[in-house]
Parts: sequence; C-alpha cells; structure tokens
Amino acid sequence: MKSRWQEQEANKFRNDPLALRVYTSRLLGQEPNLVLQGGGNTSVKLNITNLFGESEEVLYVKGSGWDLATIEKQGFAPVRLDLLKRMARLDDLTDSQMVKNQRAAMTDPSAPNPSVEAVLHAIIPFKFVDHTHADSVVAVSNTKNGEARIKEIYGRHVLIVPYVMPGFILARKVFEMTREIDWQRLKGMVLLHHGIFTFADDARTSYTQMVRLVTKAEEYIRKKRAVVHFAKAKINDDLLGLANIRQTVSRARNSAVIAKWNQGNRQIAFANHPKMAAVATRGPLTPDHVIRTKRVPVIIDQNSKKNIERFAKEYQRYFTRHASAGLKPLDPAPRWAVWPGYGTISFGTTLAEANIINDITEHTIDAILVAEKLGGWQALPEKDIFEIEYWELEQAKLSKSAGAPVFQGKIALVTGAAGGIGKACVETLQAQGAVVAALDIDPAITKIFKQPGALGIICDVTKPRAIEKAVSAAVRRFGGLDILVSNAGIFPPSAAIVETDQNSWQKSLNINLNSHQILMKACIPYLELGVDPAVVVIASKNVPAPGPGASAYSVAKAGLTQLARVAALELASKNIRVNVVHPNQVFDTAIWTQKVLEARAKHYKMSVQEYKTSNLLKTEITSKDVASLVATMAGPVFGKTTGAQIPIDGGNERVI
Ligand SMILES: [Zn+2]
Repeated sequence: MKSRWQEQEANKFRNDPLALRVYTSRLLGQEPNLVLQGGGNTSVKLNITNLFGESEEVLYVKGSGWDLATIEKQGFAPVRLDLLKRMARLDDLTDSQMVKNQRAAMTDPSAPNPSVEAVLHAIIPFKFVDHTHADSVVAVSNTKNGEARIKEIYGRHVLIVPYVMPGFILARKVFEMTREIDWQRLKGMVLLHHGIFTFADDARTSYTQMVRLVTKAEEYIRKKRAVVHFAKAKINDDLLGLANIRQTVSRARNSAVIAKWNQGNRQIAFANHPKMAAVATRGPLTPDHVIRTKRVPVIIDQNSKKNIERFAKEYQRYFTRHASAGLKPLDPAPRWAVWPGYGTISFGTTLAEANIINDITEHTIDAILVAEKLGGWQALPEKDIFEIEYWELEQAKLSKSAGAPVFQGKIALVTGAAGGIGKACVETLQAQGAVVAALDIDPAITKIFKQPGALGIICDVTKPRAIEKAVSAAVRRFGGLDILVSNAGIFPPSAAIVETDQNSWQKSLNINLNSHQILMKACIPYLELGVDPAVVVIASKNVPAPGPGASAYSVAKAGLTQLARVAALELASKNIRVNVVHPNQVFDTAIWTQKVLEARAKHYKMSVQEYKTSNLLKTEITSKDVASLVATMAGPVFGKTTGAQIPIDGGNERVI
C-alpha cells in the first residue's frame, strides 16, 4: 500500500491539528482496502479553552454517520477526555448508557454522536489515533491459524487483541490488557477479526504507521503466494432468471428491492469456485458488515425460488437459536446472492444500499479467496455475528430511514422521456423512490437525468430490436421491471382526411400505436416477474372526444386505448394492472409547438390563451399534473383498478 501523504498539502494544516486530522482521515478513507462504507474511525486529542477560560482536554472523534473519505471538521464529535477515560475504568456499562454518557460529555451538543469506539480512542495515550478494517490484516486474521500468522507478521511491537464486541467491552478489554504495558514500544494494535489501530503524537506518523503495518500484511500474503488473480470470465446471460430472483427476494423482504448484478471476473470466479458453497457461507469479513450483508449470502442453484425460501427459513432458525427474549427478528431476506455461472447479486431497497452491499461483497470475496490460500477462511462464530447484527447501536444506524417513499425499490421504464409528460413522469417516479429507465430517440436522453437512479437510453421505439435492447439494459441495470409508462408519441400536422398525407398517417400509427404494442410485448415477461406491476398508457382526450383534422392522431390513440383494454383483460391473471390516462391541453410538451397551438386555436376559432384554458375548470394542465396522476395510477391507490380510463383535461363536456 502506497502512502498518499503529500507534504505540501499537509503543510497547509500545520497549525490546525483538527484540519490535519481531517486530511489524514480522508487519506485513509480514499483507500477502499482500508475502510468501506463508513467503516473505521479516527481521532485527535486537543486542549481547548472553555467558556470560563479554563483549559480542557477534548477528544475529537469521528461522529457516526460520517465517512472518512469525505469527513469535515464538523464530522468530529468533541468529547471531554477525562470523562471518557473514567468510563473505561467502570466494571460495567451498557452500550446505550455509554452512548448517552458520551453524548452528555460533548462540548458541542449539536455535533454528531461520537463513534462507539470513543472510549477506546480516549485510553490510547497518543494525540492521533487511526483505526481501519484493512482487508489484508483482517483476511490473514480470518484464517485457521490467524493469530499465529498475525504474530509472525508483526512480532512483539503490535498488541494483539482477541475478538470481543466493539464498544464498551472492547475498550474495557484493551484497558485491562494495557494497564502494565509500555505504550511507547507499540507500533499498533491488531483486533482479531476486526481491524487495526495505529497511533502517534503527530498525524503523519500515525498515518504512515497504518500504511506500513498494512503493507506488512500485504507482503505476507504475497510471500505466501496467496494473492488472487481473476481470469477473464465467460459471461452468461439470464435476465429473466435475474428478475425471478429479485421478485422472490422482494417477497421475502416484504419490500421491492433493486438487484445489482455483478458479472465481474472476480464475481464469476468466486461463484464458480469449487468450494464456493462451503466458503461463502462461513461468515462476513468483519462483523460490522453483517448489518449490511447479513451473515451469509444465498446460494442460487437450479431453483432460485426454493433457494431463497430456504434461506429465509434458515434465517428464522438462526434468529431463534440466538435471540434473547423481546428481540424482534429482521426480515429474513438475503442481502446478496452467489449465482454460479453468473456472478453475484446485491439487493437493496435503494440503489445506494445495493451499491454499498456490492462494494462490501467485492472485498469479502477477495479476503475469502486469500484466506483459502492461507489454509482456510475462518469467520467468527455465528453467535458473535448475531450479537453485532442485533446490537442496539447497529440497529440504530439502519432505522434512520423511516417513512420510505411509495416507490422505494421499484423499477420503472418510461418512453418519450426526454421532454414533456415523459420527462415529468421520470422525475415524479424518481422523487417517489423509484429507479427509472428513461427511453427516448433524442440522444440528449443520456445526459438529461443526473441522478444514478435514472438510466437514460437512446431508443427508436418503432424498432423492435432497439426496444428489446433497451428493456434488457434496464433489467440488467436494476434487476427487473415493475412499472411501464408507455408514453412516446407525436402529433402529426392537422389535416382533414381528404388532405392527409399517407406518410404522416403511417408515421402516427407507427409511433402512437405500433411502438406501444412492441414495447408491451417486450416488457410483459419482466412485468410478470415484477413487484405489484402496473402499466400506464398515455392516450388522449381525442379518444373519447375526437376533433376534426386530427384523424391520424386520434385513430392511433384509439387503437392504443383498445390495446390497453385488451392488455388489462389478458394480464389481470398475472396481477399486472393496465390503466389509461387521457390528457388534454398539456401545452408544456414538445408536441405543442407554437405552430401547432396556433393551428388548433384557429380551428376552434379561439385565441391561443382561450384555447389553453378552454375546459370546464378553466385551468391549465401541465406535464407535472399528468405525471402525478400517472404515478398515482402506478401505485397502491390504484392497486385494485385495471382497465380504467382517466381523463386529465380540466373537464370536457364531450368527455363527461
Ligand atoms: Zn472498527
């Protein structure tokens, strides 16, 4: 591991130890082999002058919820050092008492909660303390002779602490172990199955020491020829299999999930490893990963449904084996799957959660394979993992996401998404928690939506092959499909039947009708494997109330409505709902160029403004209004409605 320390950069913070603490914390955070997803913590001990002009020793320790890679000064919680040190001397302290008292000992009540390792940081008698969960150290420690190997690597200058629960128990253990010790002779401290600490009175030494000690573990792995390499893998494809797995996991979790499929060389090699089923189910890399990944993944073989159901049953048994009275079980769904021939899948109710799990499993796989080469991967016993999984402090980290949005974990596909109603639908569905594949023929579609939960795909919806590819890309990215908003459309130039240009007629039929049928055909197999699947078709007020001069448009939209009605009949048995909206006078769309507006207004002998609000409610209808209705129709409010046609037109006498 290379040191990222840059003298010039560090010099900027020479007279500001907290800024320097931020700097080296970020250096650690930038190294995914050291800390992952909020893991690890750092601190600095400072003398401050309090309100009364007295000097006070304060530990600035990483606050919970902050990530070392991006931490700022305000991410460090200032806690009175003497109080923390006194806590370490207590014989007994529950973790919630500890958290409460740590909070009470803060000099700034608006700072975040101090790390659960604050007491441990406090008793280490150096100004700077760095703690990571370095992959190489933990991988070596998670082997049959892990402790002996760690000793072999570090000799007597590193204190080796056997595994105990993090928090007060760990702080207390280290306190006991170091009562008689000369800290000056220590270069660091390895916590078996957990991670590594380094410390020094200056930031650079503490950081460099971390890099040095971790490098020693890496060199050991190299020397023992335990480095893993991954050959280029042959990639198999099974998108329906993926959607099927995701549906079963969603059911077990009682919530829709995003499924992040990883077909990297590492994942395929691991999934195809001859001993995979045995090694993948021994336990996590470090115990704190359990709250993200659960103790073990589900292994998929021939029948994924059975595999996942069996996993859920086994999880319930695991809970019963270890739970004390009054503890409530978490949902029994797996958080990741190993799929021989296909790689791994990470499941999250949000894309962010799926990505975090995917990150963790990448590192877990490496560590497992390294440990296998070092005599065998050995994780902590089930009971220790359970204690972390159901540790009140860990549970608190997860329960912050109360009040999930209605489409959390849902996967939608919207056509004609570059502007108007389609764009508004993408935005509304996303705002309500869905991830969305946004299709449009306009190449700008790949750049319109910035959030990672929106996938812009260039697609000519009149081409069956292009639709197939786009739908596959959406399923590949997110794991399935639940909501289809069939929206792409054009408004051909107004013309009486006798004057209608045949090309214009055909074009309208191709886009306003045929493309929707092709799209539906491509999506139905995935919708069948969706979670509360729904189709919303964007038709037009012209269906119930056609206007002269718009035959090409009205006929296509009438055909589209009929297609949706038949789809509602055919798909009800698969629990797929199909409903239709009939918007009218939505003028903030690409269809309504000034030219078209003027032509239609003239046709009705009105001014453009009169035409815009020529409805019973005398109101203007926006794309956003339509999108809100579409989202509602795709959601639980319309959970028992199919085959319905809902106008959104400000009220129209001919429709009513
Ligand atoms: Zn830790």
